[in-house]
Amino acid sequence: MNIQEIDRQYIAGTYRRVPLTITQGHGSWLTSENGQAYIDLGSGIAVNTFGASDPGWIEAVTAQLGKLQHTSNYYYTEPMARLAEMLCERTGMSSVFFSNSGAEANECAIKGARKYSFDRYGKGRSKIITLQNSFHGRTVTTLAATGQDSLHQFFDPFTEGFVHVPAGDREALEASADESCCAVMLELIQGEGGVRVLEPSYVNFVRELAEKRDLLVIVDEVQTGNGRTGKLYAHMHYGFVPDIMSTAKGLAGGLPLGATLFHEKTRDVLTAGTHGSTFGGNPVCAAAAVYILSHLDEALLSQVAEKGAFIRRELEGLRGVEEVTGMGLMTGVKLKKDLNETVARCRDKGVLVLTAHDRLRLLPPLNIPFPVLEQAVAIIKEVIEE
Ligand SMILES: *Cc1c(COP(=O)(O)O)cnc(C)c1O
Repeated sequence: MNIQEIDRQYIAGTYRRVPLTITQGHGSWLTSENGQAYIDLGSGIAVNTFGASDPGWIEAVTAQLGKLQHTSNYYYTEPMARLAEMLCERTGMSSVFFSNSGAEANECAIKGARKYSFDRYGKGRSKIITLQNSFHGRTVTTLAATGQDSLHQFFDPFTEGFVHVPAGDREALEASADESCCAVMLELIQGEGGVRVLEPSYVNFVRELAEKRDLLVIVDEVQTGNGRTGKLYAHMHYGFVPDIMSTAKGLAGGLPLGATLFHEKTRDVLTAGTHGSTFGGNPVCAAAAVYILSHLDEALLSQVAEKGAFIRRELEGLRGVEEVTGMGLMTGVKLKKDLNETVARCRDKGVLVLTAHDRLRLLPPLNIPFPVLEQAVAIIKEVIEE
């Protein structure tokens, strides 16, 4: 059997796979088993921040591998401490809990918000408001937080205490924010939901309401974080610091790492024994993230913004395009033609793109060279105009 047949035989069928076996990568290029090269505008879903096998990243990871691959969280390790310090200094947040994925980072955010409310108000004030069309993960609790009815099948009963309101609907939010409510949780740009950017005025409204009713604002930056939008974190575009923030995907540039950041109010809410993770903050993953963060400097971030503006300028107004949305190197494109066919045509011509809901989604490596990006965008344009 070839790899694809073995996979279909032995791997649980949760993924609708693309008929492509990737064997190698270099920068923004991926190679398939038959030697075909592709420009990768997906980065493993916003994970490979600096593309595949970045030399500096490999060096940082292998240096740590040579020292120590793992120890339990009973002990202190340097990469984890340095990473937490770096994250807090660059965001203004106060403390960090490390896990291994976006869903886990959100689970921790949810636990932190509920504990904060419990400590101040006692039992019963546990409801968390999230937005329709949001995505917060695949665990039973983060699915309950996710505002997509299509995902709320088969796995009942879900964790109680989540309500979903339409993004931008101020009245619905106000009505839901009653005394049983402890937090509002949102993505500033809904990634899986189709790269939909929240209005700054709506986000301000959420913050003001939260302030009035002592609700925590939790921002899910699993996808928007770590330079993806042209700032280190997307909330920096909106000019505020969340009470709790989660991130993962691109944080360690290709190794599994989640982080939940707590601001002043919530910094001490999770005390000894209230939460934990065996692998969380693993020194190899933490060393990888230290490398990534130290290379997300102003020069690189402004290039992310420029490259994103280039993509949107090129695609906006094309005959086959209905709408282009996004920020930095996170772009959604609503097409007038068949989405899956467009993705397949791009692949035939050597460009890998993603989808999100009814849209094309482009998440290139943040260091994609301009000529490679130009080449990829030219191919996408060609396909859209076919
Ligand atoms: C991908 C994603 C998650 C889930 O992350 P996993 O690492 O797959 O658990 C949660 N929230 C957002 C916004 C995401 O994009």
